[in-house]
Amino acid sequence: MIGIRVENLLKKFGTTVALDSVNLSIQAGELFFLLGPSGCGKTTLLRLLAGFYTPDEGAVFFGKDNVSKIPPYKRNTGMVFQSYALWPHMTVYQNVAFGLEQKKISRNEIKERVEAALASVQMEPYAQRKPNQLSGGQQQRVALARALVVRPQCLLLDEPLSNLDAKLRNEMRSEIRRICKEFELTTIYVTHDQEEALSIADRIAVFSKGVVEQVGTPLQIYKRPKNRFVANFIGETNFIPGKVLRVGAGEGFVETEIGNFRGALVNATHPPQVDDSVWLCIRPESLKLETTPCSENCIAGEIGNATYFGEVAHYEFEKQGVRLKISELNPCHLGQTNRKGLFASAMPEDVVILKK
Ligand code: ATP
Repeated sequence: MIGIRVENLLKKFGTTVALDSVNLSIQAGELFFLLGPSGCGKTTLLRLLAGFYTPDEGAVFFGKDNVSKIPPYKRNTGMVFQSYALWPHMTVYQNVAFGLEQKKISRNEIKERVEAALASVQMEPYAQRKPNQLSGGQQQRVALARALVVRPQCLLLDEPLSNLDAKLRNEMRSEIRRICKEFELTTIYVTHDQEEALSIADRIAVFSKGVVEQVGTPLQIYKRPKNRFVANFIGETNFIPGKVLRVGAGEGFVETEIGNFRGALVNATHPPQVDDSVWLCIRPESLKLETTPCSENCIAGEIGNATYFGEVAHYEFEKQGVRLKISELNPCHLGQTNRKGLFASAMPEDVVILKK
């Protein structure tokens, strides 16, 4: 197992800055996600780690070794691509064996290692099939086995599940976590799918325009976004503009046009101060609907549009022209008679105060 570190990484393509002074430290054995919208630099970073690109500035370290100038075939990384990139004319066995044959390993050892890799992804019975005789999920398992069979120092996954349907994606993501942990692999996983990242990551780096906006566990990223970009990119959020009245130990009191709120100050280098303009960020599921007023963070209003999804309903809750999104599990405010004279409230720890 090795840790991976990138220091002040800069990569340009012509005038496009794909990565701008990126610093990251990934622990040995960690399942680490690079998450962000299209074009933010995720794949560029993965390719720099694999050695397909060299940095314009900065360095990549595998353990203590600076590998920035080491070619891909000497880095011993296992890579899985979005398109699987299996050889169509080879059997599953031959696809997985290919990387080992290039290394002039004995036939017996190749057989042993290919069978073990296929067993680890539960694909032993399919060894003699060609890729076009497999489902998308099975092809993805073969691509994983091919990456694992070379006993890589780290595993690099580039949107590995984006060609699968929703049900298979769910199944395969738990499978990927199981395999990474079983093989004790340091794994870097690129995706723009926040659910994939939140559900299996140890930690996530959220990128925007070549810059790391925040690094943290799924819980930290979701519950304590450090800025509006992260709060907006991960999940749904209500943003309410306001002004800070008071600050205390880790919390602040904010005045807004729909009332005063107590909320959490995110642990930032420059936390909001009194009189600062801020955003209150409240997740739709953090707002609870009641028929009686609550003691704090309480908004009187009524439900406008409602959309029913079975286990959950999404409401537009209105007060003085301000609309907030609320989601309610096991919905009970869908009828016309129980939509008015309501109160929505959020616990102070679910209200995040961010500097504008
Ligand atoms: P996606 O989720 O769409 O794959 P991404 O976050 O992986 O996006 P990158 O592929 O890393 O983004 O691209 C980052 C930026 O660098 C983009 O603006 C892209 O157009 C540009 N870029 C990437 N590769 C090249 C290249 N080979 N030549 C020129 N520009 C490139």
